Amino acid sequence: MDLRIGSGYDVHLLAKGLPFYIGGVKIEHTKGCIAHSDGDTLIHALCDALLGALALGDIGQHFPDTSEEFKGIDSKILLRRTYDLILERGYRLVNADCTILLQRPKVASYILPMRETLAEILQVHPDRISIKATTTEGAGFVGREEGIAVYATVLIAANFTNNANFSLCKE
Ligand code: MG
Repeated sequence: MDLRIGSGYDVHLLAKGLPFYIGGVKIEHTKGCIAHSDGDTLIHALCDALLGALALGDIGQHFPDTSEEFKGIDSKILLRRTYDLILERGYRLVNADCTILLQRPKVASYILPMRETLAEILQVHPDRISIKATTTEGAGFVGREEGIAVYATVLIAANFTNNANFSLCKE
């Protein structure tokens, strides 16, 4: 089994009155991300982690923010297209671990819907998609509620038999 690890990081600034998407889910908030696409910071970090695992460059190279094609695009489409590049090369996701840095609002109630949404796109059981969230205790641009940041790490493998019913940590 050939294993590859990848990491991704993304930041978006927040502004009042914009829709707020994280992990493919719309969050109720007074602010949302300023972006060329829908600004889904978690999905962008995840795409970069997947691309990084196979040294395929970054999301900006594959989906330029200068292109009309990607203006306002649903980032779930970008994730599907990114994962196709991984599948085409014979790899599949083993697991993903993401950390959201956001001061407000609390996203705990959205974590499971995010995991389920991403698991469906990545064709794995939600137990293979971990999403965690933290504030920065008021420090920096996240603490001042000016922006959101997300770190993502993925493990992918070739010749990997993924059983979507297999649960790594059954609740
Ligand atoms: Mg981005």
